[in-house]
Amino acid sequence: MRLFSATIATETWTFSPMATTLADYKEGVFLRPGEHPDDAPRMCTAPLFVARQRAKAEGFTLIEGSCFAASPSGTTNRADYETMRDEILAQCKAAMPLDGVLLGLHGAMVAHGYDDVEGDVIERVRAIVGPKCVIGVELDPHCHLTVKRVKLSDVVILYKEFPHTDVVERAEEVLDIVLRTIRGKVKPVMSMFDCRQIASYPTTLPLMRAFVDKVKAMEGKDGILSISIGHCFPYADVPELGGRILVVMDKDKAKGDALARAIGEEFISMRGKTMPQYLGVDEGIGAALEFNDAPVVMADPADNAGGGAPSDNTTILRRLIDRKVERACLGPIWDPIAVKLCFAAGEGAEFDLRFGGKIATTSGPPVDARVKVVGLKRDCWQSFGPTQVPLGDCAAIRMGGIEVVLITLRTQALDHGEFLEVLTVPIAEALAMTRDGRITDVKSIVGLYWAELVLR
Ligand SMILES: [Zn+2]
Repeated sequence: MRLFSATIATETWTFSPMATTLADYKEGVFLRPGEHPDDAPRMCTAPLFVARQRAKAEGFTLIEGSCFAASPSGTTNRADYETMRDEILAQCKAAMPLDGVLLGLHGAMVAHGYDDVEGDVIERVRAIVGPKCVIGVELDPHCHLTVKRVKLSDVVILYKEFPHTDVVERAEEVLDIVLRTIRGKVKPVMSMFDCRQIASYPTTLPLMRAFVDKVKAMEGKDGILSISIGHCFPYADVPELGGRILVVMDKDKAKGDALARAIGEEFISMRGKTMPQYLGVDEGIGAALEFNDAPVVMADPADNAGGGAPSDNTTILRRLIDRKVERACLGPIWDPIAVKLCFAAGEGAEFDLRFGGKIATTSGPPVDARVKVVGLKRDCWQSFGPTQVPLGDCAAIRMGGIEVVLITLRTQALDHGEFLEVLTVPIAEALAMTRDGRITDVKSIVGLYWAELVLR
């Protein structure tokens, strides 16, 4: 038995003009056959990782293809995508004859000229391996679950947990079902139901937790091989964006269709109830100002470099300035040119600086302000669990009662290290008191030290 595995993955924020290029994949995951480390899977490479571990015991030969994955950003450069894709396709062709293919994809990758990258990859792999070869695919639930990719593969399984803590378990399931299919023990058929909704579904909140647990309990019984809940990736402009339910059933398509519809209708009935309470910008600032004895952290989930956004949006900052908020700090804003200007001016300098709001209309207009440079530090880093994430040179600037951290290397706020590094002491200490652990999946942090504001 011969299986081939490869990865091509990123999550594309299509509203950004910053194309993702080969250089970004080289910064992320860029592993040629045999180069994948043995310690743990990398971004979207779990199918290859688990197949390598199990090949011997399960009696198959794994032919390893390349693994390419980049952190979320704008649409991938067309020639760069085709280069990576064609490398994988050539490896797949050379690996023939194959009984199975395992693809570790993300599912929300867009390249210039390709709205459905994963559909394109699967279509070309299918053309090489033929109709009998079993194609198994693992995707992130923040994907565009297109009709094309489901039609051209045999088994598609999405992570169930958000935050994504079950990437390896789902890859094990993809491999299990692919092996059972090759051995003739099951004959998977897939049914999809389009819920036509866009929302966020953290599985840490009670309603979604119960829904996922219920769906999991149904798997492995009555011919149900797998059930996936497609959340959708909202920050993209592609035709098939939306929440979809995918059922993988043994043989019985009609039963799978009915089940996908029933689960989909339940998912629709949860509409509007699965998200944490999000406030608008002014509402959020107002709520923060009402606290009278504690620092408050506001997080902006949309202009999030971790989801592909530029991270130079100025909306919250402009409202803080307009409302003359005191004792606030905000960051990071990605603006390497403004950082250079601050270093050139030097610590303590006061000058007119234009910063932020550069990358797209979605970034808002830049801020023009008389600023004071209150902190400068070369080569800053922040912690993300055990890993260190570079921020490059950082500058802290002050205008009125607000301090802003400008960074050189685009990234989201993962902990408060950057504030402690460059801000003036009172605000940084106030913010430090608010956090023991890291802050994930947010871009901006605004700390408001209301006690001092009252005293003014
Ligand atoms: Zn995701």
